[in-house]
Amino acid sequence: AQYYNVTGWGAGFFSINEKGHMVVHPMGPGGPTIDVMDVVEDIQERRLGFPCVVRFQDVLRARVKSINETFGRAIAELGYGGRYYGVFPIKVNQMREVVEEVLDAGAPYHYGLEAGSKGELLIVLAMNTDPEAITVCNGYKDEEFLRLALLGRKLGRKIVVVIEKLSELPHLLRLSDEMQVEPMIGLRVKLTTKGTGKWEGSSGDFAKFGLTVPELIDAVRILKEKGRESCARLLHFHVGSQLTEIRVVKDAVNEGARVYAKLRKMGLPIDYFDMGGGLGVDYVGSHSAGFSSSMNYTLEEYVSDVVYNVQRICKDEEVPEPNIVSESGRAITAHHACVLMNVFGSIEIGSPEEIALASQPRPDEPDVVREMREIVDSLSPRNKAEAYHDAAAKKEEALQMFKLGILGLEERALVETLFWKLCHGLVALNRGKKRLPRDTRDLGDKIADQYMANFSLFQSAPDHWAFDQLFPVVPLHRLGEAPTRDCTIVDITCDSDGKIEQFIEGEGVDETLSLHPLRNGEPYFIGLFMTGAYQDVMGDMHNLFGRVNEVHVFVDDEDPEDFYIEEVIPGDTVKDVLASVQYDTPDLARRVKGALDQRVKEGVLRPKEGVQLQDFYESVMRGYTYLSGL
Ligand code: PLP
Repeated sequence: AQYYNVTGWGAGFFSINEKGHMVVHPMGPGGPTIDVMDVVEDIQERRLGFPCVVRFQDVLRARVKSINETFGRAIAELGYGGRYYGVFPIKVNQMREVVEEVLDAGAPYHYGLEAGSKGELLIVLAMNTDPEAITVCNGYKDEEFLRLALLGRKLGRKIVVVIEKLSELPHLLRLSDEMQVEPMIGLRVKLTTKGTGKWEGSSGDFAKFGLTVPELIDAVRILKEKGRESCARLLHFHVGSQLTEIRVVKDAVNEGARVYAKLRKMGLPIDYFDMGGGLGVDYVGSHSAGFSSSMNYTLEEYVSDVVYNVQRICKDEEVPEPNIVSESGRAITAHHACVLMNVFGSIEIGSPEEIALASQPRPDEPDVVREMREIVDSLSPRNKAEAYHDAAAKKEEALQMFKLGILGLEERALVETLFWKLCHGLVALNRGKKRLPRDTRDLGDKIADQYMANFSLFQSAPDHWAFDQLFPVVPLHRLGEAPTRDCTIVDITCDSDGKIEQFIEGEGVDETLSLHPLRNGEPYFIGLFMTGAYQDVMGDMHNLFGRVNEVHVFVDDEDPEDFYIEEVIPGDTVKDVLASVQYDTPDLARRVKGALDQRVKEGVLRPKEGVQLQDFYESVMRGYTYLSGL
């Protein structure tokens, strides 16, 4: 357990049971538990293939409840004059079942939604029906987008159009006159406070969205000139996702609250203070800002800092305390989903079998092999660097001899295997030591096993590829057993970038992950956790590996120690992904049939064999895009 820091990053939702299995506490610590291997078994019984996304819908509900109640408590404790009206930005996960669950769990708190495009607004208009909840429309908008938002106003909903660039304002006012409806207007300001980490570009003068302060003043002028100040209801800012430092949150809120106060004093009746997203998720579990996938604060600290600072500034400026809106997406959805997959093999550099074989001296071996053997045998804690340099030179010498044709393939193989034997010996000597010879420092990472897992990084964890974002990887079983292999993980795409080489290990980050040796004929399952935010919907079809199978797991109300799979969403079939890149699959099948018929005509194939091969071709088309039967 100490290898995977499960209790560190899991926010209380994960632990390891006495069987050495990964378990989920979908309602938080102390509540019901689900053994993830039982879910694996259920998936297998249903003959669904891996990889498989598992959504713990109760986790999603627990997160919605937690953020709303934490704000509610802080507001009550501080006697704050406004309410909390959170909105879920659906771009973080637009899956219908996710949005429905978030809305259902958020209903008691009038939790709303945020849309950033026409497509998202179409969803939100149909789903967010609570007249007290707000809907925030961000992103650049054309006339259709603005008209859709005004349609929502006609429905009596609190739809706020956030002005991202100044030209949207007169456009919106003109359309609202035409449609004869009062708009709710939000103004997005570019703060100077900058986020830190991977998503810092969302703020500052050169950010893509929002109004500079001079533009904000212009907006006030336009509203006043048209006599429409009363429509200005919300101030918005967003300084970046995954804010790792609480200092940045405080700075942004302080700056934003001052802007709010000044706008109030200029006569705009703004009553919603929308601080955007950014609430972090501790994927590493280190509780520190030292890693961009971690954070140095808790939800409670975040919430009380926000409420306290807005209140302090409003008192100081003598303006009313506005309702607080936040647009947390990552913190709501990250924990609830994971991708379960099977490891189906490993690539080992210098396997124990090969090394054992190469270690037997042969009577007639060439000098270069004998000399390499002597170097390897001489390895000791005192000559580590020297032995490594000598062995590297000997390996190079053997390679030159091979190229000149004076060393055979088998002898070259012996020299290489002996070299790997030396590397493994060195890594064992280096283990736990702090001061290591420079050249041998990274050797452990270089010769780590590559475990081959049945998934596509590009489909299931694109942010790891694009931003080096970390996701916890943990075996689902054998956790009572010490993991003895240092590994990296490679996916099944034909792309060398399809690999995971950054892991959470202990309370830090490492280039390798400790895993268990694979056993012949026994499946080994691992999970990629905390993939519920962005990953689910941003993945692509690299190599035509499509969307993965998905199951939605709920705690059984009648027996909290049991669970049930409420829904199964089959992943893409090969046919689906072929159609998405414009292939007419019946036409492909016809072409192959034509070729097979021709072979039958030529007498090369028997007619029965031709039919069987055709059936097989078509059954692969109907199947799953990932590896099966492993
Ligand atoms: N609101 C806006 C305007 C955003 O751009 C984003 C994402 O970057 C979010 C909300 C969601 O942020 P997070 O997932 O960090 O909560």
